[in-house]
Amino acid sequence: MNTANDISSDLGRILVTGGAGFVGGNFVRYLMRESGMQIANIDLLTYAGNLETLAGVEDEPNYRFVHGDIADARTVNCLIRDFRPSCIVNIAAESHVDRSIDGPAAFVRTNVNGTYCLLEAVAAYWRELDESARERFRFLHVSTDEVYGSLGDTGAFTETTPYAPRSPYSASKAASDHLVQAWWHTYGLPTLITNCSNNYGPYQYPEKLIPLMILNALSGKPLPIYGTGGNVRDWLYVEDHCHAIWRVLGAGTPGETYNVGGNSERTNLEVTDTLCMLLDELLPDAPSRPHRQLLTFVDDRPAHDWRYAIDAAKIRTELGWQPEETFESGLRATVQWYLENTAWCDVVKSGSYGGERLGLKDVES
Ligand code: NAD
Repeated sequence: MNTANDISSDLGRILVTGGAGFVGGNFVRYLMRESGMQIANIDLLTYAGNLETLAGVEDEPNYRFVHGDIADARTVNCLIRDFRPSCIVNIAAESHVDRSIDGPAAFVRTNVNGTYCLLEAVAAYWRELDESARERFRFLHVSTDEVYGSLGDTGAFTETTPYAPRSPYSASKAASDHLVQAWWHTYGLPTLITNCSNNYGPYQYPEKLIPLMILNALSGKPLPIYGTGGNVRDWLYVEDHCHAIWRVLGAGTPGETYNVGGNSERTNLEVTDTLCMLLDELLPDAPSRPHRQLLTFVDDRPAHDWRYAIDAAKIRTELGWQPEETFESGLRATVQWYLENTAWCDVVKSGSYGGERLGLKDVES
């Protein structure tokens, strides 16, 4: 996996934030398999973070978990001084657009203040490293394509597309990206940013489209389609996202951003239809079969971005990354994972979220 200019073999000690969530949990598992690095994972364990996601990892000698908040300067400073990372991957975030409509404050707090707090602590630590360690140090910020706003029926986001976020979630991620860029330009902190399209795969909290639809279908509940169902996302299997983060960390150029996408545009209706067909095939005796009968059109999300599409030419040509899963193979693996991991689903759903519709508060009041 390593290339001549790849520094990942020298990285040594990695601090991951948000490693008990969907992308973070998959990334910690990826590191365990691929890297042999010393790993520290700081996570606040919000409703979206769950230690069950890391079952089997916690006893590994090269892994350490810290229950803490990236927006708490004291915790972050202590952890960085104690663990002495050679690189940091910031994945912790509030991540659900619908929740950001109902309660934007947590998004500003974690995504903006939390990223700021990390940058301050990291920059102070980085300045004190010796020259060679400072040179090799990396701060990789994991972000989203949603910062670019909404596309019409054609075109794709490139790294130079102007930012135009439209939801409290994407605005808070855009703000965090700008802070990261500022720490590179102003202080020289060796930062990297990845802006990735929609992910799916194992361990995704069942409020997001794909796991919500799978679990609703399994219980014979309606499959809610927002608006016409025509909104388009560019889907990427989470393992391919983890691989992209790893490539950028090892071989990306400091100060640069990299778009990551699956070249798999699908409307929400197409995604749900494919899920229904897979469930029909894998569960021939299910009482809700054919699952398509559960499709239910509901009010659209306010300011629902119409289409996202990623031009991933830069990461493909400069770093040799490309997705390994097709949408069909990744979705099949995902459905099979949820069918085989109902215990994980029961644990994560035992919190406060019962699958109800979120993100309409301001429209209804
Ligand atoms: P998630 O909601 O599943 O996980 C977020 C994790 O962060 C949770 O474990 C949570 O406990 C933790 N966390 C939240 N606030 C924290 C805080 N203040 N301190 C420490 N930990 C905190 O989210 P996700 O889907 O894994 O997304 C993670 C990141 O990846 C986000 O920055 C998101 O923008 C980016 N991303 C996600 C996708 C996607 O489709 N899931 C696509 C592109 C980019």
